Amino acid sequence: MKLLALIAAALPFLCSSTFAHAAQQQSTAAATTIATTALVSVNLLPMDTDRIVRNQTVLVENGKIVAIGSAVPIPKNARIVNGHGSTFLSPGLADMHVHSDTTGDMQVYLANGVTTVLNMGGASSGFMDQVRPDMNRGKIAGPHFFAGFVVDGSPQYGQFVVATPEQARAMVGLAKTNGYDFIKVYNNLSPASFQAFIEEGRKQHMAVIGHGVTRVGLERQLDAGQILVAHAEEFLYTTFSHPDKENAGGSGQMNSAPDPDEIPPAIAFIKRNKAFVTADLITYATIASQWGKPEVVERYMHMPEIRYLSPDRRIRWGSDGYTKRQGDLSARVEFLKRFIKEMAQADVPLVTGTDAPTIPGLVPGFSLHDDLRALEAAGLSRYQVLSAATRTPGEMIHRSVPGAEPFGTIKVGNRADFILSAKNPLDDLSTLRTPLGVMANGNWYAEPELHALLDQVADKYDNAFKH
Ligand SMILES: [Zn+2]
Repeated sequence: MKLLALIAAALPFLCSSTFAHAAQQQSTAAATTIATTALVSVNLLPMDTDRIVRNQTVLVENGKIVAIGSAVPIPKNARIVNGHGSTFLSPGLADMHVHSDTTGDMQVYLANGVTTVLNMGGASSGFMDQVRPDMNRGKIAGPHFFAGFVVDGSPQYGQFVVATPEQARAMVGLAKTNGYDFIKVYNNLSPASFQAFIEEGRKQHMAVIGHGVTRVGLERQLDAGQILVAHAEEFLYTTFSHPDKENAGGSGQMNSAPDPDEIPPAIAFIKRNKAFVTADLITYATIASQWGKPEVVERYMHMPEIRYLSPDRRIRWGSDGYTKRQGDLSARVEFLKRFIKEMAQADVPLVTGTDAPTIPGLVPGFSLHDDLRALEAAGLSRYQVLSAATRTPGEMIHRSVPGAEPFGTIKVGNRADFILSAKNPLDDLSTLRTPLGVMANGNWYAEPELHALLDQVADKYDNAFKH
């Protein structure tokens, strides 16, 4: 009740349009920060290998794991979270392809056990300056936030245009000064600008991630040092050959898929470069399901989690263009399932991602669980799926963001990002949809607090529709 009263008192601030006020308000709603937390009698999924360690205590101080064991002394002032020997503690989840930058979306991610997000474009400077630092320090409820700055070579897709190598080099410094962690390259960049981003990025420790660049191609991009491919389907456009490739953005028949024989050479060049690939199967499958079918988006507008999608995003979903396309993408969806499964079998480092909330049907947080389900259905083991949502994103950030705290596995010294679940996620991944508690950025949120975060967001959006 106390927490609900706090939220009620904070509600008037929600109409405020400034980030500063939003930040103040959010901090009142954030879970109580206690420096030391002991999670006792939990069954641990460290996610370093496929194993469970029964009946452990995990001690967290100032957001870091400081001890793990079966007989860890617990400081007197510690908050105790009791796992009762029957519950499971796994690393928090990472969505490595989002376009969210609102405090509302951040609460929804957290309530879904998503403790790390990589914004792949569109994070405003207001959010980067005034919300992200407080959120990453645990003063505002939300996941740990990384961001890429998107650059393209033409205005075709509405991205920030960089026309020359000189501009590219200047852009790296500007993005870094403004707190972005990565340069995200987009389709129409010139080969010379792409190369300048790679070289200047290397000098300034800003890794290059992103799409296939049409005039370069993913093989040459990864050979040059691009560390992450932002969508598995990028390989359809710049690597694999198929009869209707020219129609990728048009309205021609789209129901052909590449020859599966082309998969092994692609896997070879990804592995040779130790590059990461976003296994965003749910993204393409969701696009395919609404391709030419307005009734599908209409159905999305009535799903229960639509309450947690902002009003302006709901309007944009309603006017999105996929429903006006012709053709059928189902053969390509089947191909991508096979491609992703073969990448997993070949130990290509995969990271989960969704593109939420830009694609109609993909609500922040909820959609990451849909991606986990889709990957399992494609034939990945639950351990492979969970690795792509925890350990591998941790490795990717560790390799590319200087000074970032380690995360993604449960071990001493790592950032304390956890989900406590009723069942073993390696038996049933869907148990992660209903966390018993989440720890992120040093704060512990028990189940009622997670529900309160969701309710607060839904109420805010309901009120916006009433005004
Ligand atoms: Zn995206």
